[in-house]
Parts: sequence; structure tokens; C-alpha cells
Amino acid sequence: MTPNKRGMVYFVGAGPGDVGLITVKGAALLKKADVVLYTGSLVDAGLIKKYCKKARAFNSAAMHLDETVRIMTNSAKRGKLVVRLHTGDPALYSAVSEQAFMLLKAGIPYEIIPGVSSAGAASARLKKELTVPGISQTVIFTRLEGRTKVPQKERLASLASHNATMCIFLSAGMIKKVVRELGKEYPSETPAAIVYRATWRDEIKITGTLRDIAKKAIEAGITRHAMIIVGGVLGEIAEGSFSRLYDREFSHSFRDA
Ligand code: SAH
Repeated sequence: MTPNKRGMVYFVGAGPGDVGLITVKGAALLKKADVVLYTGSLVDAGLIKKYCKKARAFNSAAMHLDETVRIMTNSAKRGKLVVRLHTGDPALYSAVSEQAFMLLKAGIPYEIIPGVSSAGAASARLKKELTVPGISQTVIFTRLEGRTKVPQKERLASLASHNATMCIFLSAGMIKKVVRELGKEYPSETPAAIVYRATWRDEIKITGTLRDIAKKAIEAGITRHAMIIVGGVLGEIAEGSFSRLYDREFSHSFRDA
């Protein structure tokens, strides 16, 4: 990673909500930044208050892609250090690709600083590991189709056929449909959870099974900003399923059995 340079754009993962969950590197960039763009509806303005002492901060919530890229491009061309703060990890459902494409076309260099995704945050708040040997060793990050199309081969019901752990983004408002699709492949007693605004002060955690999770989520009034997690790893784990990585009889490259 290059040292922090002016005339550049940094896409920074803000983390899931709690201002303590931005990376040290991300916070340092916010402190140094001349210009910061953040999505006010998803990123806590407390981060801006805490770290941005001198930056001009723009809330991009009501801006079009062209407008945000114009601000980034013009600022970087004037030698400014620009931070584009994205919720969670910029690698997931963040629209970084189209911004990066436009920056490259304008000849503006950029870097991406990762962040704590809401998938990790929601698992942590549920106090669960998503990969438990003997139950699931795969996590699928996906979403239901909305205005953004999902490729035909990635339909929820077809992904569900693996019975792996699933983290479903951007779909809380369609939880009935989520459950209907998953129910084609997972047993109805499969554990499921929904975490609204994980790590924020108004977080809500709901656990259940595929049979009742939709009803519970709807009763709680959750329609957005929530992570749906499904899979056996959320249930009670039998002792025999645990990882043998720390087992006395399990040798690996750093330790003999
Ligand atoms: N890049 C983000 C995802 C952005 S898409 C990340 O890595 O988390 C927005 C979706 O992410 C929301 O619809 C919701 O499904 C999920 N999300 C973001 N923040 C969340 C939070 N604090 N708690 C639960 N879900 C969250």
C-alpha cells in the first residue's frame, strides 16, 4: 500500500456502525483528509465529528454518482487528499466499481482500505462463528433481487441447495420472499436470525428458525438496514462438530501433535 498521498482518493470502510469499528488506517486517513464524502444515512456522522478536524465533509446521501465523482475528481486534481467513506467493507455492495471506473477514466489514482462488514458485525453480535466444521465450511454472501438484478444462476433457492451458511444483505424488506425461497432447500427448522443496525445503539437482534423468523421480523417492524443470517451454525453445536485446530492430537505446521 502506498503512503497516504494527496491528489488521491481513498475508499475507506467505515465499519458497520459503532465508530470504534473503523480501522486504525481508516481513522488516520480521516484525520489527514482535506475532503470527505460519506453516506449520511448509513455512516455515523460521529466518525466525521471525531476524526475530521479540518476536512470539508459532504453528505452524499442525496447526491447522484456523477456529483460525488465530480467532487472527488476536482478535489484530487487540486492536490487534495480525498476520503470516500463507505459503510461496512467497500468490497461488498458499495458501488465502488462504478466510482473507481470513473476515477480511472479521469486519471485519478485510488486505493481501497477495507472495513468490518455488517456480516461480521452481525455474527459477532449473535456471538456466533459462521464456519463450524461438521456443519458448514462455506459462507454465501448474497441478496434478493431488487432494482439491482441478480444473475439467474445465483437465485436464492439455487444457492440454498448447498445448505451452507448464508448472509443475506439488502433484503430485510422482502423477508417473506427470502424465507419462501430458502424453504425450497433448507429444512424449516434451520436456525435463522436477523440483526437490525448491528453495533448501533438501536440495534435489534431476533433469532428463530426459517419457520418463524419472517413473522418475528415483521412484528418487530424491521424492513431495512438489517442482516439476515441462516444456517445450522446459528443453532446449538454438538461437541463433536468443533474445529480440531486447537486439539492436542492435531498437528499443523506450527505445532506437533
Ligand atoms: N458494504 C456494506 C454493505 C452495504 S449494502 C457491508 O460490508 O456491510 C447495505 C446492506 O448491508 C443493508 O441493507 C444491510 O443488509 C447490510 N447492513 C449494513 N450495515 C448494517 C448493520 N449495521 N447491521 C445490519 N445490516 C447492515
